[in-house]
This record gives sequence, C-alpha cells and structure tokens, in this order.
Amino acid sequence: MAQDSCDGCGRTVSVAGGVANIWTFGEADGSDGTAMTLEFEDGTEHLLCYPCIEALPDEPTAEDVTRLEQVDGETSRLGVL
Ligand SMILES: [Zn+2]
Repeated sequence: MAQDSCDGCGRTVSVAGGVANIWTFGEADGSDGTAMTLEFEDGTEHLLCYPCIEALPDEPTAEDVTRLEQVDGETSRLGVL
C-alpha cells in the first residue's frame, strides 16, 4: 500500500494497489486504502481521499478538484461546493 497525499485536502492517504496488494479481488471496492484516483474526461488524474470524493458532485470535473484544494483539510467543511 502506497502512502501519498490527497490532491484535494493534502492529507496523507494510503492507496490500495501496488505489489503488496494481493488481498483485493480486482475491484476498486474501497475496502482497502483511504483514497482513490479519479480520472477525468480530459485525461487528468487526481488522487483523492474519500471525504473529498464525497464532497464532489456526481460528475466531478478538474475544476471541482481545484475547489477542494482551496480548503483546509482539517477545518473546512468538505461538503460545501
Ligand atoms: Zn482529501
């Protein structure tokens, strides 16, 4: 499991995947790790923790991720759009 930081709030997250990730079943089911990589239609990828993902609309854009970057991960309300 890799350690990385969320593109939204910047907190340290762990990402399912990599050579040690032998106990998942090929599905990104979210049961392992605390973040996911979202890929947008324009081809950009953003690593986001689950609170940030939940704060995004159903069809997030890179612009929405940029908005996440403007808030502080500890004190902000990630639910605000
Ligand atoms: Zn985050």
